[in-house]
Amino acid sequence: MKSEKQSLIKTIGVLTSGGDSPGMNACIRSIVRTAKFHNLNVYGIQKGYAGLLEGSMTKMDVASVGNILQRGGTILGTSRCPEFMEKDGRKEAANILKRKNIDGLIVIGGNGSFVGAKLLYEENNIPVVAIPGTIDNDISGTDYTIGFDTAVQTAVEAVDKIRDTASSHARIFLVEVMGRNSASIALNVGIGTGAENIVFPQKGINLDEIVSSIQRGVNRGKTSSIIIVAEGDVSGISYEIQKDIQEKFLLKSHVCILGHIQRGGTPSSTDRFIASQMGAVGVMALIEGKYPMVTTINQGNINLTPFDECLDKKSGFDEKIVNLAKMLSI
Ligand code: ADP
Repeated sequence: MKSEKQSLIKTIGVLTSGGDSPGMNACIRSIVRTAKFHNLNVYGIQKGYAGLLEGSMTKMDVASVGNILQRGGTILGTSRCPEFMEKDGRKEAANILKRKNIDGLIVIGGNGSFVGAKLLYEENNIPVVAIPGTIDNDISGTDYTIGFDTAVQTAVEAVDKIRDTASSHARIFLVEVMGRNSASIALNVGIGTGAENIVFPQKGINLDEIVSSIQRGVNRGKTSSIIIVAEGDVSGISYEIQKDIQEKFLLKSHVCILGHIQRGGTPSSTDRFIASQMGAVGVMALIEGKYPMVTTINQGNINLTPFDECLDKKSGFDEKIVNLAKMLSI
């Protein structure tokens, strides 16, 4: 890209925003080490956009990201920041970055954080790169987001344990997984645990189908049924399904909402690998003047993708996977 743009970037900032996800630390480490390797200064900005507005930031060096690769959460902290939703808030953030001589910003977060980063660039000309960090895997333009693989693994391990009890007591369990409006976690966990049915918002809730999948299992001698439920807008939808199948079909079931255990924990090797690659690609994008951009992974390749291709929430689901789940649970 343009050489005059390249020379602009001497100091960068990094922040994590929105919901935390396992692998964010691996990404921060990669950003700091890549920046230092290329002789850039790098500031760690605490608590997302809120910390930026408070001017809460410290210079980081190679040692400050030692021994964090394997830790869940984010050492920088994260937050939700209503002030950043306002144009004035973003102007103030840009002024703070300019006063600190920070030439470019890397934002690790989800969809909302991306919108904020894009506006920061458009309104104030701050070079930005965004890196998808969310367990929900709900960002378009990328096959995976940092944290998704770990969240699926955590949920699969939990469901395996629930299956032991479900089988021993001949019980029906509704296990609710995270993912907001994305079906990704539910579908992956459903396939990985041999669930009798997978319920997610886009497909709608079909009680007859849920009950017939339970009945099918009973008819061929299964002692347990696991139904994976995607949380959708608000968690707790499983209790409604439980009540409905009790009232309509007189079937007793148990609900287990996995909740925040899916957000924490040590990141999987896949998440560490993706995070390390995306962090390095993000820094290089700033150095080479390729902004504003989002780092994405498609068919195993890490790419830079324009914001507009990444801002829609992934709302679709893979019909093939839904059919596979149905076929395998006969
Ligand atoms: P996530 O990034 O995980 O989707 P949020 O949607 O809560 O999480 O967004 C994180 C932060 O990003 C918000 O607290 C806010 O500061 C900023 N943000 C979200 N949406 C917007 C928006 N439309 N305009 C500007 N900033 C936004």
